[in-house]
Amino acid sequence: MSFYENTIKNMNKSAKIMKLDPETLQTLSSPQKTLIVSLPVRMDDGTLKVFEGFRVQHSELRGPFKGGFRYFPEVNLDEIKALATEMSFKCAVAGIPYGGGKGGVKCNAKEMSEGELERLTRRYVQAVYQIIGPNHDIPAPDMYTTPQMMAWFMDEYSRLVNKYQPGVVTGKPIEVGGSLGRGTATAQGGAYVLEEYMNQNNLKIEDHSVIIQGFGNAGMYAAEILHGMGFRILGVSDSKGGIYNEDGIDPFVVLKDKKEKGSVTKSDEGKACTNEELLEKKCDILVLAAMENQVTEKNADKVKAKIIVELANGPTSAEADEILAKKDVVIIPDILANSGGVTVSYFEWVQNQAGYYWPIEEIELKLKRIMVDGLNRILKFQDEHKCTMREGAYISAFDRLDKALKLRGSGAHLKCKVYLNK
Ligand code: GLU
Repeated sequence: MSFYENTIKNMNKSAKIMKLDPETLQTLSSPQKTLIVSLPVRMDDGTLKVFEGFRVQHSELRGPFKGGFRYFPEVNLDEIKALATEMSFKCAVAGIPYGGGKGGVKCNAKEMSEGELERLTRRYVQAVYQIIGPNHDIPAPDMYTTPQMMAWFMDEYSRLVNKYQPGVVTGKPIEVGGSLGRGTATAQGGAYVLEEYMNQNNLKIEDHSVIIQGFGNAGMYAAEILHGMGFRILGVSDSKGGIYNEDGIDPFVVLKDKKEKGSVTKSDEGKACTNEELLEKKCDILVLAAMENQVTEKNADKVKAKIIVELANGPTSAEADEILAKKDVVIIPDILANSGGVTVSYFEWVQNQAGYYWPIEEIELKLKRIMVDGLNRILKFQDEHKCTMREGAYISAFDRLDKALKLRGSGAHLKCKVYLNK
């Protein structure tokens, strides 16, 4: 099953449980617009390389399309469609006034120089700028895209439209219109939800050990934040592999080792293992913060954790979901768990529109409220329909999307597919 098919399956399951209007399901089962572009970029060695790029706009029913863009060798249309769709549901779960979109370029950012990445990012903006904008479609960072790239993005877009437009993209550095708290937002939001869930179920932090897969923007900060809250971190991993130590590791030491030696696997804080092995190690909470399709029907049965927090998008396949549900594993689903990122993006955009910037205390307070409200609304639907938390999350989102569609009229999700270069 592809990532997009997986997303559609999640939608269908919840639609059935809540008896959703079939017209709403049909409407949301395909994106509004798909743009495929080709991006010629001059490389440092003088050669020309043509990259393939995408922007999928799934739905603007509840507000402008919103969602990051990623630089990754395996980027493809199916994946970007799935991620764009998830963004519509994520923003609806959080109750922030956005629809969903996603973009990406098929490239290996790790092997490209700073100059090459700048030229690629500016080319990407040149290719998509006519379909984006602060009130229409607002990109942001995702896998292997950074605040620096968002600064180039904003600069290029502002140049093309001949107007300073900080609100066209979020996740920018503070110096050029970014928001305090955006860098740590995905992890912080996940931590707020986990803490609230544990409080409601009388689970104690000191009794719970954690393994975190992924050491990027989400995973690295999750390790630091959860460690700071008093959780015992037993294992972490990056794209090269993981480390595990049943006595606990210090994520700050691991970060220092990764910076110096290139990978967490080089750290003496724990014993090296593969990424696959790490997922099967003993722990109470497994934080999936790497990428899609990590827990599947092949390894779901071997997962020992009792709680899974999905900081990545789509890390658990639909088949794995069923296996884990039978084992009574609680999954705090991606469209809730990682919605802190887009929520602080929303705060950044609001600050850009107002030209007035908030202190960190205000960001944290507002983020916590949105995360806790998002969880409680899902728990209410879960209780009503006796379903999993993922199903409850999709129901929570569908409820808002369905109301928006009914209020606006059935033409609101106008289908317009654009295929360039294909
Ligand atoms: N890429 C992040 C996500 O998948 C953030 C999106 C945004 O801030 O717009 O949620």
